[in-house]
Amino acid sequence: MWSVSVRRSEANSPVPDPQPRLEALAARVAELEAERELTLRLAQTDSLTGLVNRGAFTAALCERLDAARAAGGSVALFVVDLDRFKHLNDTLGHHAGDLVLAEVGQRLRDDAGPGELVARLGGDEFALISGDREVAARAQRLLARLSQPQTIYGRVVAPGASVGVAVYPHDAGDASDLQRFADMALYRVKTRGGRRWSAFDAELRAENLRRQTLEAELRRALPGGEIEPWFQPVIDSHTGRVVAVEVLARWNHPEQGLLLPAAFVPIAEELGLIGQIDEAVFEIACARAAPWVAEGLIESISCNVSPRDLLDPAFSRKLIGRLARTALPATALTVEVTETFLLQDFALARRHIERLAAKGVGVALDDFGTGYSNIRALMSLPIQTVKLDRSLIEAVGRDGRVSKLVSAMLHAARTLGVRIVAEGVEHEAQALFLRAAGCDRMQGYLFARPMPAEKVEAHLRGGPLMDLAMPSSPALARRRHG
Ligand code: C2E
Ligand code: CA
Ligand code: CA
Repeated sequence: MWSVSVRRSEANSPVPDPQPRLEALAARVAELEAERELTLRLAQTDSLTGLVNRGAFTAALCERLDAARAAGGSVALFVVDLDRFKHLNDTLGHHAGDLVLAEVGQRLRDDAGPGELVARLGGDEFALISGDREVAARAQRLLARLSQPQTIYGRVVAPGASVGVAVYPHDAGDASDLQRFADMALYRVKTRGGRRWSAFDAELRAENLRRQTLEAELRRALPGGEIEPWFQPVIDSHTGRVVAVEVLARWNHPEQGLLLPAAFVPIAEELGLIGQIDEAVFEIACARAAPWVAEGLIESISCNVSPRDLLDPAFSRKLIGRLARTALPATALTVEVTETFLLQDFALARRHIERLAAKGVGVALDDFGTGYSNIRALMSLPIQTVKLDRSLIEAVGRDGRVSKLVSAMLHAARTLGVRIVAEGVEHEAQALFLRAAGCDRMQGYLFARPMPAEKVEAHLRGGPLMDLAMPSSPALARRRHG
């Protein structure tokens, strides 16, 4: 590997013997080699469990598949996820969580047969690469090993595990599909309650095909302008006038017709395309709504942003830049964020929200009442609006306890100087209750459904959407659904 050539001195002057220098050099080279190996090993090892980490696992999986391809063999990939690990971590603390993970790593290592490779992929996720053809028996053994209780701080815990399996070449032809398919099988087990194993099968293959088609269509839909903003009016509870609109994405699918966000937002988030959707929708929405604001037809528009967008440290700066290129004043924009985002990275959330607030952009907390409903976070951030979730509004006036809760929330919001928008108001009784309890703004099918730009514009020019003092006028009913 190393060749050292030494030129002999041609003069006769005494030259120091090169041998010791060469030896020293060789020793140093060996040292460096050992250091390099150690560094390499550390870089490939998960420090908590001593197992191979994700990077090394991926490389090893590719190697195993190459070998199997050459020899005509098969490779089974098992992905393992602990059940209720988060709960355990939250109740017993991170140190206890680490002990559990270390024990799981140890058990997986002890249990591994010759030629099997165990890895920790991150968090409470592990993987096993195996040449074992008895997939079902191997999966059962994994589950049995992992469901045995452990004693942590004198307490007996049994987190249990879920396992997803995919097999090369039966299910997938390469490492990336194999991982994705094993993950799909795992995900299905998790959504069905965990504590079981599942193999990739025809049902999941069909699902995979659907997703791939959707992905290709989504990538084409974006530049094609198939995704556009619709607008749902938000009304002032006292005057019945539209004061704002919420922007909601709709996909005009060439074959399937109009698609709601539920059909494409989750997959767009997964594929990392949601940012582009939000940007496209945002720009068209601002352009459409700017004249409405300029003419005084509405005060503001509000846009939804995905928790994923918000994890980008440059999110608020980019948004402010894009807004500056539209005719919409910053004070006429509200950004709707969910609590999930606040919980993911509170420091980053604060930075974004403060940066937006400094420019005059409003921030609303969406879906309030579905999560932790974190009043403390609210008080410490410049959030001006809270949107009470439809699940709460639905029970208002029907379930006494929910009515009391909503009244108390409205009272608390007033004390804090926060505006409340009630979402999903469908019945007059709900609207009357909410208005009496001091809710300033409402949104829901009772007043208007989301609609395309031209239609909402016609509504805006047509006066109040509802006079709550004169409920159920026939003219209103016509306009509401018209
Ligand atoms: P959201 O932000 O909570 O939006 C309100 C949802 O409730 C909308 O559903 C709206 O059509 C629906 N809604 C409004 N009033 C009523 C009512 O009286 N009854 C009932 N049953 N439903 C009502 P939509 O348009 O299907 O949107 C669903 C979710 O998708 C939104 O929930 C939002 O989280 C997300 N979303 C929509 N557009 C975008 C977007 O452009 N970007 C991102 N990132 N997310 C979006
Ligand atoms: Ca929203
Ligand atoms: Ca909402």
